[in-house]
Amino acid sequence: MIFGSFFRAIGLYGTHRVARIALDIDSTLHHYWDLLDSIARRRFGVELPYHEQRDWGITKLERADLVAAIEETHSEENILRAEPYPGAVDVVARWHEEGHWIHVTSHRAVATREATERWLERIGMPYDDLHCSYDKVPRCVELGIDVLVDDSPVNLAAASDAGIVAATILHPWNERLVEEGAAIGGRDWPELAGRLEPLLLR
Ligand SMILES: [Mg+2]
Repeated sequence: MIFGSFFRAIGLYGTHRVARIALDIDSTLHHYWDLLDSIARRRFGVELPYHEQRDWGITKLERADLVAAIEETHSEENILRAEPYPGAVDVVARWHEEGHWIHVTSHRAVATREATERWLERIGMPYDDLHCSYDKVPRCVELGIDVLVDDSPVNLAAASDAGIVAATILHPWNERLVEEGAAIGGRDWPELAGRLEPLLLR
């Protein structure tokens, strides 16, 4: 990408490297799992305890029921109600102020875009670009993204394979990937920001 190369070229001569950063929303910018668990319990009588979710597959629910539960997590009301993780908005605002390019990307229907925009405005999250669709990592590659912050082990592995730095808030389902060194992890946003700092400022 022209702009990606341009930013990287600046990095060679300056001390401040401008990066293109992609940010997932669910389980990255806010605690999503408990909402999914509560919907699964109410609609299908199935519990999805956070601490027992140690890999990416959800087998306790039929596929169609899982899709329906996830869809409900992305109702306008639920999108707007989400509260960001402590420090998330501050860290992203600082990155944005430092000149990093912020691409918010969520695996959710295109139709949720307007509610997602309103949510980002409500929480005061600065960003340059928003993508609500199901082609996250290919889109990151097209955009020349340097760092993807995402909790999904599938996305983290795909990003890493594509030469993108993979980073995540630690969850039971991605701890192993972080332990193996395939992704940079932090227990919370301030810790994750500290771990990414050497990559963003050099
Ligand atoms: Mg997520």
